[in-house]
Amino acid sequence: LIENNARHLWHPMAHPAEMQATPPRIINAGEGVEIVDIHGKKVLDAVGGLWNVNLGYSCEPVKEAIRRQLDDLPYYSTFRGTTNSPLIELSYELAEWFREDGLTRSFFTSGGSDSVETCLRLARQYHKLNGQPERTKFVALKKGYHGTHFGGASVNGNANFRRNYEPLLPGVYHLPAPYTYRNPFDTTDGAVIAKSIARLFEDEIAFQGADTIAALIMEPVLGAGGVIVPHETFMPLMREICDRHGILLIADEVITAFGRTGAWTGSRLWGVKPDFMSTAKAITNGYYPFGAVMIADKVAEAFESNKTAAGSIGHGYTYSGHPVGAAAALATLKETRKQNVAANAGARGEELIAGLEALKERHELIGDVRGKGLMCALELVSDREKKTAAAKDVVQKVQDVTYDAGVMVRTSGANVILSPPLVITAGDVARILTALDAGLTAAR
Ligand code: PMP
Repeated sequence: LIENNARHLWHPMAHPAEMQATPPRIINAGEGVEIVDIHGKKVLDAVGGLWNVNLGYSCEPVKEAIRRQLDDLPYYSTFRGTTNSPLIELSYELAEWFREDGLTRSFFTSGGSDSVETCLRLARQYHKLNGQPERTKFVALKKGYHGTHFGGASVNGNANFRRNYEPLLPGVYHLPAPYTYRNPFDTTDGAVIAKSIARLFEDEIAFQGADTIAALIMEPVLGAGGVIVPHETFMPLMREICDRHGILLIADEVITAFGRTGAWTGSRLWGVKPDFMSTAKAITNGYYPFGAVMIADKVAEAFESNKTAAGSIGHGYTYSGHPVGAAAALATLKETRKQNVAANAGARGEELIAGLEALKERHELIGDVRGKGLMCALELVSDREKKTAAAKDVVQKVQDVTYDAGVMVRTSGANVILSPPLVITAGDVARILTALDAGLTAAR
């Protein structure tokens, strides 16, 4: 397996040669909040798969729903007139979840990148339907992550995910991230940062012309960019500016939807109603590749009331509304609601942040601690004063020793990212902190 992994398997977001030189961690089983590697070593998965295994690895109702659906109907297309029962039930369930946010129509995809692409395309089409075909541009945030399709890559705010694929979509503008630890405004005051970015947004709108901008896309809490939690005024300010200029707001909630931040959605956390909401990941607890885009009623009605050819959606995937994915999502959402995982994410998240702050007292390596709910990060530095990012081998050492001590964490640049299942206990939080302590001590 090790040889064939090196010879034949390219890992996403990794250099093939580097992967060939590193013994792979072969994960072959999962139970509760733990994963089990090929050597039988059990580790607590503080990555939660990839921000998505919110209910852990032994979610019997979801497994059962998948088994049953595989027996009934493994696949049928949902193009045009055909549909299937679990999918209709799922769209009803989602409408119930998001009625209070004004999002009762759903469009189904195979994952997060597909969901983002759907939002970008439908945002442009909405303006065309409204007689504003020139509204084609997008505004996004630096450090935002929106998947790997060309539209998503174009709005991504990390140069590493863009540079090799240029030229990307024209007419995309990036505002600074609402990042307290590092920003171009020479302040650590989140409210000042929010206002400063709002001013830049207004300035860009005046420069571009409001009538050329289709949408602002943003994560309510930025995930892959290093868990950047904006000031509470930030997203409402962005909403208000969008409203004033007829710009749609796309909330990319691929990570934040369904409880991760302690609220059911990131937009709700900040009291904002988006026009589009992209979801995926936790919608099936990682048990099936699936995504849903929630569409605001006002946007949906513009499509539904337009009887011309321009009103038809020339967009969709073979696996849009896959019956097994739909059954998995339906069972996941019911279980997610039943276990009230958002409340647990909030409570355990506070314990985790407090523990990480305590680690910061003892480890010079930690420059910054951030998080909301069970979406947390440490930013590692070699010099606290200068905020110099920690070297790659130091970050790797933290991850390796933490793994040896029984906890899987993820690293991204100089960040250690923690996104455990939302069902973890206080004891699991303590276990994560003890293992991290060992990792940080070894990397000193
Ligand atoms: N948007 C956000 C906010 C994400 O975090 C991700 C994945 N990490 C995506 C989009 C892309 O999702 P996927 O990897 O399922 O295509």
